[in-house]
Amino acid sequence: MNIEGLIKALPKVEQHVHIVGSIRPKTLLWLAEEGGVKKPYKTLKEARGFFQYHDFPHFISVYSKVIDYITKEDQFDRIAYEMLENDARCNVRYVEASFSAFDHVKEGLDYSLMLDAINRGVHRAHRDFGIACNLRIDLVRNYGPDVGMKILDWIEQKDDNIVSIDIGGSEERFPPKPFAPVFKRAKELGLHLVAHAGEVAGPKSIWDAVKYLNAEHIGHGVVAYQDAKLMRYLLERDITLEMCPISNVRTGIVSSIQKHPIRLFLEKRLRITVSTDDPSMFNTDMNNDYMQLHRHLNFTIPELFKLSLNAVESSFLPEKRMINMRKSFTKEYQQLQNLINSN
Ligand SMILES: [Zn+2]
Repeated sequence: MNIEGLIKALPKVEQHVHIVGSIRPKTLLWLAEEGGVKKPYKTLKEARGFFQYHDFPHFISVYSKVIDYITKEDQFDRIAYEMLENDARCNVRYVEASFSAFDHVKEGLDYSLMLDAINRGVHRAHRDFGIACNLRIDLVRNYGPDVGMKILDWIEQKDDNIVSIDIGGSEERFPPKPFAPVFKRAKELGLHLVAHAGEVAGPKSIWDAVKYLNAEHIGHGVVAYQDAKLMRYLLERDITLEMCPISNVRTGIVSSIQKHPIRLFLEKRLRITVSTDDPSMFNTDMNNDYMQLHRHLNFTIPELFKLSLNAVESSFLPEKRMINMRKSFTKEYQQLQNLINSN
């Protein structure tokens, strides 16, 4: 088995992936057709240009355009199904998918109907590929804590497979502190706590997310390495950093994959996981993210498997399911090792 085959065969968990960022280029054309609006590109070759960014703000503006193409709640069924189909092709067994509900509610779509449509896609994907998926609701900083509280009401009123909240959005303009009461209430509701931080803003943004919000996971956290005290704190508290290396390259957060600091985190024994963030918008998938780490940052197969195992252990699955998944991943990995050794 060559290295590509081995990376593909590694069982994986994807922790940090946005549903809207997973819309296939072809599906975006279908959405435009359904909405009766002009298509953003004509050919899939042109799509490659549409999904290329000169900097982070440019990426955000393309992301916002994509949101506008979604006009009906039912469309989320296909979007969620295809996201999981792509993940299943990379041997991903479990996904925690992020949904920024208010991006669509403010456009007139219904929260409850969207959740039902997403979960129809989730169930179909489970039936067809055996892949499991729970949801995270991204409150999006830009909407402020009041909207955050309103979304918690909706989460509370409806029995969905939501395991955590998150705050994405504009990290520099909307620091975490005002969201402290929202995160406190989310915790009381039994939800896990995640915050995007240290992607666009500096280490202080991560400090604020762990101090004021008690975030268990940090989305990205790339800049943490600039602050030794913060690195020690993250290690001591066993806070997971959900790294998305190809995403960071595509949005210009790091200048190249070779310059990505991810290996430093591994060497300092921090709990890091790897995800795609917005796979369609970054023209990547889990196999590619792992492959680039191997090719350009010398991640070995045991190191890549460690990333997989980290994602299982820090997932928001109930403990028994987590333990079972860890067992089956370890068994599969041992079989792969035997295969390598016998060749
Ligand atoms: Zn993200």
